[in-house]
Amino acid sequence: MKNIAVAVDGPAGSGKSTVAKLIAKNMNIVYIDTGAMYRTVGLYCIENGIDTKNEKAVCSVLDDIKMDIKAQMGGQTIFLNGVDVTSKVRTQEAGRAASDVAVILAVREKLVQIQRNMAKGTSVIMDGRDIGTNVLPKAEVKIFLNASVEERAKRRVGELLALGENPDFDEVKEQIRKRDENDTNRKHNPLRKAEDAVEIDTTGMTIDEVIDKISDIIREKIS
Ligand code: C5P
Repeated sequence: MKNIAVAVDGPAGSGKSTVAKLIAKNMNIVYIDTGAMYRTVGLYCIENGIDTKNEKAVCSVLDDIKMDIKAQMGGQTIFLNGVDVTSKVRTQEAGRAASDVAVILAVREKLVQIQRNMAKGTSVIMDGRDIGTNVLPKAEVKIFLNASVEERAKRRVGELLALGENPDFDEVKEQIRKRDENDTNRKHNPLRKAEDAVEIDTTGMTIDEVIDKISDIIREKIS
């Protein structure tokens, strides 16, 4: 089988990473979570007292951030300067910081280069915000996942509870709304459905239903 690239984009909490991870496992292809990379830059800034809204300050430490991503079947481990931060980047604070640093062009250029290199010479399913529009514009399959803000907030609360955090539903919902606004309105590579992407509204759908639908689309494209 020739290598294929599957791009999965969508707003926070639309289910991208859950379904992309499982599809990668089912199809035995590499899963790449690009959000974790922006979260890692955000985490570095938090840990080193860098104001994530200060572009100059963030750019001045970019070369100090060494990121290693080990893609495994059905998952990804991310190292920040040699330390495994895979779980640490999942907090709400790291998510907020990620959304701040993601508006900075130099940050995006650094991460997009890593993402494109990872997709070379292998079949991948990559999730993010600008995969179909910018990172892998020639991806064979492009999916844009969406869901209502209520549903996405419910899912994020579940994830945060599982991480041992104590989230407030309204607060999480407001943060998702703000992140949507940030991600959609930023100047460089905003969250946008690629013209040739298939949009799926996952509100009320089970994970298995979403996976079946995307798997059908992939099978159709590669047959
Ligand atoms: O997907 P996740 O919620 O982990 O992403 C965290 C943040 O990273 C997003 O809110 C977005 O601002 C940024 N991001 C991005 N481009 C990507 C992936 C994530 O700008 N390809």
